Parts: sequence; C-alpha cells; structure tokens
Amino acid sequence: MYPQFSSPVFRSQSPILSNSFDQEMTPALISFNQLPQATDRFKFSLLQYLTTVLLKLARHLESRLRSMTPFVFEPNLPEESLPGAIADLSNHNFAKELSQALERDELFLDYQPQIDLETGKLSGVESLVRWHHPRLGRISPADFIPIAEETGLIIPMGYWILRRACQQYQQWQSLGIAPFKLSVNLSLCQLKDPNLVPVIRSILIETEINPDYLELEITESFMVSDISAAIATLTELRELGIQIAIDDFGTGYSSLSSLKNLPIQTLKIDKSFLDDLSATNKNQVILQSIIELGHRLKLQIIAEGIENEGQLKILKTMNCDCGQGYFLSRPLHLEALSHYFRQVKLGIHLPQLLFS
Ligand code: C2E
Ligand code: CA
Ligand code: CA
Repeated sequence: MYPQFSSPVFRSQSPILSNSFDQEMTPALISFNQLPQATDRFKFSLLQYLTTVLLKLARHLESRLRSMTPFVFEPNLPEESLPGAIADLSNHNFAKELSQALERDELFLDYQPQIDLETGKLSGVESLVRWHHPRLGRISPADFIPIAEETGLIIPMGYWILRRACQQYQQWQSLGIAPFKLSVNLSLCQLKDPNLVPVIRSILIETEINPDYLELEITESFMVSDISAAIATLTELRELGIQIAIDDFGTGYSSLSSLKNLPIQTLKIDKSFLDDLSATNKNQVILQSIIELGHRLKLQIIAEGIENEGQLKILKTMNCDCGQGYFLSRPLHLEALSHYFRQVKLGIHLPQLLFS
C-alpha cells in the first residue's frame, strides 16, 4: 500500500515505499522548484510534515523488522495535522470543501477540561472544533479557522459550534453530571455579526442551558477595531447572563488598565507566559503580576498550556484560580470525556495526588 497523500504536492509519480521488502523502495523526489507558487511557510510546513512521516515510517519499519512481519505502512497521522499551508496552494478548493464540511458532518467538537487549582475539581471544559477531512484526515483549527474567517464561513460554523456545544452540555446535565462551565471560542468576525445576540438567545432557549455556565472566549484583538461596538455587544451578551473571557491574554494589544472598562469575568493567560518559569526568569514576575492585578480587578484567572508539574506548582503558589493544559488533560473526544467524568466522580482524574 502506498501512502495516500492528497495534496497536489504529494501526488508524486514515484511510490514513496513499496509494500514488501523484496520490491525496490523508491524515495519520492520533491523539488521546491516544482512549486513556484509555494510560500516559505508552505515549504517549511511541508518539510515539517515529511519529517513527521519519515520518523513514523522509520518507527514502523523498525518494529516490523523486529517482528519479521510484512510491512504495511499506514500513513494516517491522527495526532498530527497536515501542513497548514496546504491552504496556501489550493485556498479556493479548501474553502469550498470547508463550506461543505458542515453539511457532510465532518466537523466535531472535542472538550478540554479546566481544573480549579485550589481544590483540584473540574471547573469547566473548553470546546475545540475539529475537522475530519475525508481525504486529508484531521486538519487543525489553527489552519481552517483563519480560512473560515476570511470567507465568512465562520458565521454559520460558529453558530453550529455554539449550538452543538450547548446541546451537548444539556445532555450532560440530563445525565446528572454536576454543572461546570462550558467555554466556547468566539471569533472576532462573530462579534461583529448583528445577529449574534439574538441567535445566542435562541440557542439558550432551545437548549435550556443555564447561561451562568456558558462562557465565550474572545481574543483581545477586538480592542483594536471598533471597541465601543464590541463593548456594546459584549454587554448585551453579559445581560443574557453569559460570562466573557479574554483568551490568549498578554499576546495582543490590551493592557490591564484597559480591562477595567470591559464587561468581562475571566482572563486566560497565554501559554507563552508559562514557558521557562525558572525562579530568575522574568516570565515568573509577569505571571505573578497578571494574576495579582487580575484579582484586584475581580477577574478569574485561568492559565492555559500547563504541560508539566513544575508549572502547575508555581501557578498554585501564585494563587492562579484555574488551569488547563496537556498535563491536566488533553482535549478529549466525547467517549473519552465520559470516562473522564467517571474519574472526576471518583476523584481520580488528576495525574497525581497534587491536590491532596
Ligand atoms: P485556543 O482557543 O487558544 O485553544 C487552545 C489550544 O491550545 C488548543 O489547540 C488546545 O488543544 C491547545 N492546548 C491545550 N493545552 C495545551 C498544552 O498544554 N500545550 C500545548 N502546546 N497546546 C495546548 P487547538 O484545538 O488546535 O485550537 C487552536 C486554536 O483554534 C484555538 O486556540 C482557537 O483559537 C481556534 N479554535 C479552536 N476551536 C475553535 C472554535 O470552536 N471556534 C473558534 N472561533 N476558534 C476555535
Ligand atoms: Ca480558547
Ligand atoms: Ca488560548
């Protein structure tokens, strides 16, 4: 079986691998000269992707050689996504396929748990959209959300995401799962949509979820455009009872002083502030300052991108309210989340007894 690469670049005449050892193995030859329109970003992504494929291939070969079983290479890479730059080459097709993805039921939501850092209890989940493309496999939202935004598809897609997340939440409630916060990402384009508030109101009525438990995450980039219109919309959402969080805080243009006038309740500290948190590092000072000042503004602080125990411990000593990250839990499919909820009930959902 040959790897089924579907991007134009991968439609090479020569097979990358044969399916048995006695056949000749012909490496694919891809020259960047054949890709005159490719951007540097595309070339970089392509190299990254091919490196991942080759590493995976090497691991397969090694294990097959050890067991002397016939070699069959399965190129699907469920955890890794295809290079984002595929879109650079065939943006038009990509956008068209994205518009069909909703109708074809190719989008779904994963949910990443958020933990109360004082008690260790589950405080919420963030819904994260995924696209399972029929040929390309899993595509990262970091790659398709920008295209959805450019093409305006984010509006229907955003409503689908909100409705689906709220329906799911309602189902959890009907199963008797203790309430927690449901965080849904909202694109800046959605914030500018005049139908946003009425549609969200109707989703709340339709799914009967308590708006106190719904939080919308929006990046601080809204502050550079028409800020008064944005504040008016956020205020209307707040009047519905919904909570508002500033996502990726610290990477954009806002300052803590500008936050005091916004109808927001939560700050999500960007992952970059958690990198390299050694005692002498300035990141630790910045992190502590954000948490303290955020608290003075009566905001809840959540740190995202917690990847190790050291980061978690520092955040706990700094009185950060909540945490989210691979160390606590990766984003989970629905089935894995049901299992997670059972672990939460038993109090065994955390990697170690960090909160005892
Ligand atoms: P985000 O809103 O900042 O979401 C957090 C991202 O960080 C997610 O990536 C999540 O899987 C990842 N993450 C969580 N914990 C860790 C960690 O410990 N380490 C690292 N390295 N990463 C971690 P994902 O799911 O690929 O989403 C990427 C971005 O795509 C999101 O960033 C958000 O901007 C956008 N996005 C995802 N879902 C939606 C959606 O439903 N609507 C909109 N408008 N945007 C979405
Ligand atoms: Ca987010
Ligand atoms: Ca974020």
